[in-house]
Amino acid sequence: EDDHQILAGFEDEEAVEEVSFVPPVVAIVGRPNVGKSTLVNRIIGRRQAVVEDVSGVTRDRVFYDAEWNGKPFTVADTGGWEYGVKGLDAKVADQAERAVDVADAVVFVVDATVGITATDEAIVTMLRKARKPIILAANKVDGQSQEADAAGLWGLGFGYPYPVSGLHGRGAADLLDSLVDELPEESAYKDVLTAQGPRRVAIVGRPNVGKSSLLNNLAGANRAVVDELAGTTRDPVDELVDLDGQIWEFIDTAGIRRRQHMASGSDYYASLRTRAALDRAEVAVVLLEASQPLSEQDVRIIQMVLDSGRAMVLAFNKWDLLHEDRRDDLEREIDLDFQHVAWAPRINISAKTGWHKNRLVPALETALDSWETRIPTGQLNSFIGELVAAHPHPVRGGKQPRILFATQSSTRPPKFILFTTGFLEPGYRRFITNRLRQYFGFQGSPIEITMRVRE
Ligand code: GDP
Ligand code: GDP
Repeated sequence: EDDHQILAGFEDEEAVEEVSFVPPVVAIVGRPNVGKSTLVNRIIGRRQAVVEDVSGVTRDRVFYDAEWNGKPFTVADTGGWEYGVKGLDAKVADQAERAVDVADAVVFVVDATVGITATDEAIVTMLRKARKPIILAANKVDGQSQEADAAGLWGLGFGYPYPVSGLHGRGAADLLDSLVDELPEESAYKDVLTAQGPRRVAIVGRPNVGKSSLLNNLAGANRAVVDELAGTTRDPVDELVDLDGQIWEFIDTAGIRRRQHMASGSDYYASLRTRAALDRAEVAVVLLEASQPLSEQDVRIIQMVLDSGRAMVLAFNKWDLLHEDRRDDLEREIDLDFQHVAWAPRINISAKTGWHKNRLVPALETALDSWETRIPTGQLNSFIGELVAAHPHPVRGGKQPRILFATQSSTRPPKFILFTTGFLEPGYRRFITNRLRQYFGFQGSPIEITMRVRE
C-alpha cells in the first residue's frame, strides 16, 4: 500500500509493465461434485459459465486469471470428470496430481456436509506427498448450522478447515486472504508453464573465427532428428542439436556454413545477418580468436549483441594454437580488453579438436538463467535501502536526490526502474549497477536501469 502511494507521484506509472511475468498458480482439487467449479467462479469473480450442467463431460484443466488483495494469480480448475468410470478414484487423483505438480499452492475442496469419502482419501494421500502449501476448503457451509461439519475436517492434518460456501460466497474472503499469503510473487514453475521449446542460440563472430567449425563439432553425430515435428517443415537455416540430452536451436546455421568470404561489401551483409540472427536468438555465443588481438570487427559484433539485449557468452577459440607459456599472459590481456563485459561467462575452446566444448552448455545455461531472473520487489528494495543508507548520493548544490522505490519492470533481460526525487549522476548509477551485479549476479546477462524522476 505504501508502494502505491509512492508510485502515485509519478507520471510514468504505467511504464511498470510485467513483460514475461507468470503469476503463481493455484490448483483447485477435490472429487467431483464438492463444488470446485462453483468456488472457482467465486474466486475469479466472474459469472463465467464454468459449471457444466451436462454430466459425463470430460474437461481438461482450465486456467483462469484471478486477483486478491492486489495480488495476481492463476487458478487451475481440475473439475469435471466422467462419472461411473471404473477406477474413478485413481483417475481423479491422477488428474489432480498433474495440476498440483505445477501449482504453487493448492486449495483442497471437501464437501463438509458429506465428509471424507474414499475418493477424497486418494487425493489426501497424493497431497501429503506433494509438499505444497495446502488450504483446506470445507465447502457447502451455507450457514451456521454446518460449521460443526467443517470443524470435523481438522483431522485431515491440513490445518484449519476454512468453512466456505462457494455458492453464496460465505467465508471466501478469509480463505483467499490465507491463500495469497502462501503464494510467491511469481510462479516457481514458469519454465514448464511457458513450455518454451528449445533455447535459441546465435553463434556470431567475424569470418574465419571458427563458427562453422564449432557448429560442425557440436552437431557432429548429435544432429537432432526431430520426427515428432512430423508434418511441419522447420526452417532449414536453423538446426536442432542435442547437447547432453537437451535440444538447442542454433540460428542461421545455413548462413554460417555458406562461408561468406571477405569480398568487398560482404562485411555489410555479414552485419545484417548477425543482426537478424540476434533478433531471433535468446543467447549469443561471441566467438573470438584467442591468439589474435581484439579487432574493430569483434568490438562491433559485441556491441551488436549488447544492443540486442540478448544473453551473452564469450568463447575464445583456437586455443590449441597457443603455446603453453603464452596462456597466462593472454588471460590477463583478455581481462583488460573485456572489462566492460566482465559479466559475460568466458570459455576457452578449440572448435577444431573439440577441447572444452562441453563447457558451452553450462555457460549458456548460466547466461539464460540470469537473463530470466526476477528479483522480488521486497528483496530489491531492501537491497537498495541498505545500499543507499551506506552510500548516499553525493549532495550537489544543496540537493541530494533520493531513491524512493525500485522495481524490476521486465526480464529477458532484467530491467529495473528507480523512482527518485532527482536525477542520479551517471557515476552513481554505475555504482548501483555494479552493486546489483555483485549482489544478485546476473552472470551472462545485460541489465538495464532507468529512472523516473518525480516532478
Ligand atoms: P465440481 O464437480 O467439484 O466442480 O462441483 P460443482 O461446482 O459443479 O458443484 C456441484 C454441485 O454442488 C452443484 O449443484 C453446485 O450448485 C453445488 N454447490 C457448489 N458449492 C455449493 C455450496 O457452497 N453450497 C451448496 N449448497 N451447494 C453447492
Ligand atoms: P567461420 O568463417 O567463422 O565459420 O570459420 P571456420 O569454421 O570456417 O574456420 C576458419 C578456419 O579456422 C578453418 O580453416 C578452420 O579449420 C580453422 N579453425 C576453426 N577452429 C579452429 C580451432 O579451434 N583451432 C584451429 N587450429 N583452427 C581452427
